[in-house]
Amino acid sequence: SSLFHAVEMAPRDPILGLTEQYVADTNPKKVNLGVGVYYDDNGKLPLLECVQKAEEKMMAAHAARGYLPIDGIAAYDAAVKSLVFGADSEPVKSGRVATVQALGGTGGLRVGADFLRKLNPSAKVLISDPSWENHRALFTQAGFTVETYPYYDAAKKGINFDGMLTALNTAPAGTVIVLHACCHNPTGYDLTAAQWDQVVAAVKARKLVAFLDMAYQGFGQGIAEDGLAVQKFVASGEDFFVSTSFSKSLSLYGERVGALSVLCADKDEAARVLSQLKIVIRTNYSNPPTHGGQIAATILNTPELRALWERELAGMRTRIKEMRTALVEKLKAKGVQRDFSFITQQVGMFSYSGLTKDQMVRLRNEFGVYGIESGRICVAALNTKNIDYVTESIAKVVA
Ligand code: PMP
Repeated sequence: SSLFHAVEMAPRDPILGLTEQYVADTNPKKVNLGVGVYYDDNGKLPLLECVQKAEEKMMAAHAARGYLPIDGIAAYDAAVKSLVFGADSEPVKSGRVATVQALGGTGGLRVGADFLRKLNPSAKVLISDPSWENHRALFTQAGFTVETYPYYDAAKKGINFDGMLTALNTAPAGTVIVLHACCHNPTGYDLTAAQWDQVVAAVKARKLVAFLDMAYQGFGQGIAEDGLAVQKFVASGEDFFVSTSFSKSLSLYGERVGALSVLCADKDEAARVLSQLKIVIRTNYSNPPTHGGQIAATILNTPELRALWERELAGMRTRIKEMRTALVEKLKAKGVQRDFSFITQQVGMFSYSGLTKDQMVRLRNEFGVYGIESGRICVAALNTKNIDYVTESIAKVVA
C-alpha cells in the first residue's frame, strides 16, 4: 500500500473555511468580518503610498538579488530595534538586543520558540485564554506543552486580571508566558499600565520567561504608546523575547515581513544568542527573502517615507476607532437596549462583540454577515458603506 495510506486529513483552518463560505455566498449585501486584515473605507486592502514610493526607489536601483545574511538585512534589523526599543534606548545603544528578520510575526514567534526549546526543553508555555489560534499550534509544533492563563472575562466584558496574575504567580520558574503586547487578538482588551507593572513584577519574581507578541504596533494608541509593555519589561531588567510584524502596520501581509528580538544581559550574550537564532533560521529556510524587508528598511530609514508611513498608520488607526464609535452609536440609534459601549474601550482590529454563537450563526446564515462563532468581529473590515447593514443585522439578532 502507499506510503501515505494512513495519513489523516488535518482539520481545516476555521477562519479560512469561513472565508470560503463567504466567497460562495450570493447575498449582495454580504460582509466579511471574519478576516484578520485591515480594509480601507472602500473595503479594499490598502497598498500604502509609502510602500509604493519605497518600491519605486527600489525599482530604480535595479538591485541584484543575492542571498541575504541569515539574520536578514542589517539596516532592517537596526530599524526594527529602534522601532521596538527606541532609537536612543539603552538596550539599542549598548548592543544587547539580538534581532533577526523573520517571515512575518509568525516566523519571529517560531524562531524564538525553536531557540527556547533548545534552551529549556522541559519548560511549559502559557498563552492567554483566548488567544490568536496559532499560538497554541505553533508552540506545540515546536515541542512545548501549551496551557493557558485566564484572560477574558465574558461576564465582566473585560480582563480577568486576578485570574491571570494567579496563573503567573503559580507557574513554575522557566515557564514561557506569551503576552500580546498590544491590540489583543481576539478580544481587543489590553492591560492597563498599572496591570502591566504587576505582570512584569510577577514574571520577574517567579523567574518566568516573557515572550511578547507585538503584531499590531501602531494600531492601538500609537507607535510609541503601543510599545509600553516592551518599555516596562526593559525597565524590569529582565531578558525577554519580542516578535514583531509589518503585516498590518505596512499592509504587507503577503511579503512576510517580521522580526524576532531578544533582549539579553549584555552585548556578548546578544552575540551568542544571535548565533543560535541563526542556526534555527539556517536549518529551516536558510535566509529571509529580500523584497519585503527592503521595503520596510527603505521606509523606516528614509525620513520623508517614515513620516508618510506614520501618517498613513495614524489614518488606519483612526478609521478603526471611528468604526468602533459608529458601531456603538448606530446600535443605540436602532433601539438596541443592550449596552455595547465596551466596544469603544477595546483596541486594535478586533472586537469580542459579546454576541453568542447562535447570534453569530444567525448573522451569517440570515444576513450574510460573517464573524467568528466566538463573537469576534474584525472592526477594521467595517466601513461607512457596510456599517448600516451590519448594525441593522446585529439589531435584529439581539432583539
Ligand atoms: N500574532 C498575532 C496576535 C496575530 O494576530 C498575527 C496575525 N494575525 C500574528 C501574530 C502573525 O502575523 P504575521 O502575519 O505577520 O505572521
